[in-house]
Amino acid sequence: MALLKVTERVYFLANEQETDRPLLGYIKGDKYSLMIDGGNSKNHIEKFNKLLKESNLKIPDYAAITHFHWDHTYGMHAIEGKTIACEITNKKLKIMAKWEWSDTAMKNRLLTGEDIEFADTNIRKEYQSLQDIKVVTADIAFDDELKLDLGGINIILKNVIAPHSEDSVIVYVPEEKVIFIGDAYSKDYYDNCKYDPIKIKNFITTLENLEFNTCFVGHSNPLKKEDIIRFLNSQYEQIVKENH
Ligand SMILES: [Zn+2]
Repeated sequence: MALLKVTERVYFLANEQETDRPLLGYIKGDKYSLMIDGGNSKNHIEKFNKLLKESNLKIPDYAAITHFHWDHTYGMHAIEGKTIACEITNKKLKIMAKWEWSDTAMKNRLLTGEDIEFADTNIRKEYQSLQDIKVVTADIAFDDELKLDLGGINIILKNVIAPHSEDSVIVYVPEEKVIFIGDAYSKDYYDNCKYDPIKIKNFITTLENLEFNTCFVGHSNPLKKEDIIRFLNSQYEQIVKENH
């Protein structure tokens, strides 16, 4: 699998379904480079770094985290640059950092509802040894919005209202007309797969108000602006119909 170049400054490594690895993004500034999301393991990060080296791109100075879910954060400890997350994400990471990683402890968390079957299954696939799992908090935490000047290119990180999780952060790159939204478009698997129509509507409005051509999502191919908005509108209409 290769690193794909989208614009002069934007690259990505596609998601991998086998162990639920999300898409990882890379933005090349004149001064600093930023990676998007923390990967699901040290192996995931090492793969990304190896591909960067092959493309003569430097190891990221910063990594922006889109939300707390394991597949987007459990590689954070292996990231050389500074990691950035919103306060809500960091609070969640702080809790998970205390989790014990034994078979019994994991099964127990499924019973209490702290974790979900889908995550449990994929964690066991990604990690040969559960003892290799390491959860850390981000180096830098922001409240609502954070702007980064990477040199010749600006980045806006924003915690938005979205159906997937309350800590959903979008990474918007106005000059390149791209946006990374993590899993913000999908349902909340940690809250009985709830797909809140009000939050969907809110998220549609957020996206409509931003100018971009390409939208990078966590677990499938990048979409055009009209496609992600059409998708969310169809989901919204379906839910409203079902509730009638
Ligand atoms: Zn997620």
